Amino acid sequence: MCDNHHDETAPAAGISRRDLIRRAAVLGLAVGGGTLLATGTAHAFDYYHPFTGYRLSGTWQDHLNRGSSGGLDFAMAVGTALPAAGAGTITNIPENGTGGHTVTITHAGGYRTQYMHLSAFSHANGAQVARGQSVGLSGGQPGAPGSGSSTGPHVHWHLITPGGVRVDPTGYTGGGGGGSLPKTSTAQDGVPGTVFWQRAQKWLSIESGYTGPVDGRPGAGTYSALQRNMRDHFGYTGPIDGAPGPNTWAALQRLGARHGYTGPIDGVMGPNSWRAVARFLNEDRWD
Ligand SMILES: [Zn+2]
Repeated sequence: MCDNHHDETAPAAGISRRDLIRRAAVLGLAVGGGTLLATGTAHAFDYYHPFTGYRLSGTWQDHLNRGSSGGLDFAMAVGTALPAAGAGTITNIPENGTGGHTVTITHAGGYRTQYMHLSAFSHANGAQVARGQSVGLSGGQPGAPGSGSSTGPHVHWHLITPGGVRVDPTGYTGGGGGGSLPKTSTAQDGVPGTVFWQRAQKWLSIESGYTGPVDGRPGAGTYSALQRNMRDHFGYTGPIDGAPGPNTWAALQRLGARHGYTGPIDGVMGPNSWRAVARFLNEDRWD
């Protein structure tokens, strides 16, 4: 329902932010409507999906299909209070291009969640909000102030990783088919299987922009994200083509070397190479 193509983290120019904030009511109340999906230490920060009670009117893939960097749209009446997915610090971005009035919450660890097409802000910039506390009121009525390119009442929501990659929040909370993953037995048997690759996909979705399913079936999307990670952290200098060769695997062995692999860096993955990578993937943060 919204069509945000450009950088939605940059403030729009020429708008009276003070005026918008002055008009906004400070709600300061915890609001319901969501389901707690994730707690504890398995995730990079403690948050939940606040919009499970609303109809999904635009999927992540819908957004990609129209050239957006991604997002989830939830249909709701204008003026609905929008709960913070987690505790954090508010940044209001009035009239943020196609995104309209946008709230960014900066969470622990550098994660951010964004809420778009608002009709009203609830807090000043720099305000601290608790998980579940309203950050503003939904909007999206076509042509209304703050609606941006929205074609109907809804909120647009997405998560941004510390690396600046926009990702599907439900891939992290357990909604939409995600959820906590078991540890992989590859750490014992040295043979990568479904759980190994699910954990790899989870890792790559958090660190390297993988946006496909966490289904344990690696394809070009998984391998391209792997190559990006290897390029960024392990000295891979080949193409990002989703077709790993010896140079990609050699870089992965360098990762393994940080997790107990002591064999040659020769681009030939054997059981000891896979075991070391599995020890990395079995860290709690990739659950
Ligand atoms: Zn949207």
